[in-house]
Amino acid sequence: MKQIIIATKNSGKATEFKDFFAVYGMEAISLLDLLEDIPDVEETGTTYEENALLKAEAISSRLSKPVLADDSGLMVDALNGKPGVYSARYAGEEKDDQANIDKLLDELKTVPVAKRTARFVCVLAIAVPDEEPVIRKGYCEGSIAFSEEGENGFGYDPIFIPKNYIKTMAQLPKDVKNNISHRKNAIARLEELIKTIAGRCPK
Ligand code: IMP
Repeated sequence: MKQIIIATKNSGKATEFKDFFAVYGMEAISLLDLLEDIPDVEETGTTYEENALLKAEAISSRLSKPVLADDSGLMVDALNGKPGVYSARYAGEEKDDQANIDKLLDELKTVPVAKRTARFVCVLAIAVPDEEPVIRKGYCEGSIAFSEEGENGFGYDPIFIPKNYIKTMAQLPKDVKNNISHRKNAIARLEELIKTIAGRCPK
């Protein structure tokens, strides 16, 4: 099967990319799957675009292969777009999903339903050796629940209710999330390029 490297050590993201790329007859290999330990790329950018590009280009030039990187986050309107690009580290450098959720729920505890609107954002960058990188963005609109529900997914999924649904992302089956998510919407915008790369990737 043709392979593409995904520049992530986040197992939640890695699992979703494996499902997305299976549709194109490709195997998504995350940094967790490689025998070689690839050092973390420091996310020093202040935008999703900068960080996605940093990760894709650094890993692609190290491995001399096409690499896809994802930089994503949650933007809450009542918090003026926070946690945003700092979503993974919202409650500290440990990148603790539970601590991030607790902090967010606490900050929103007096915010009424109508003002709890939020969106997930995903920026994907594909870096191919000796070619210009390509960047695409996807969104998923929704709102923040008052408490955690559900076991599926990762990150903020237990407190994010997608628009037109009454359950949290973590309560929805993974096929439903993968059909409406910010990541799916960004991937859809890369479809032509993915098909081209699929034709050239090593087996
Ligand atoms: P980064 O892109 O690795 O900097 O981190 C993105 C962070 O945003 C994750 O650690 C999660 O906290 C959050 N996030 C991104 N995508 C999702 C998702 O699909 N569900 C829940 N949380 C997400």
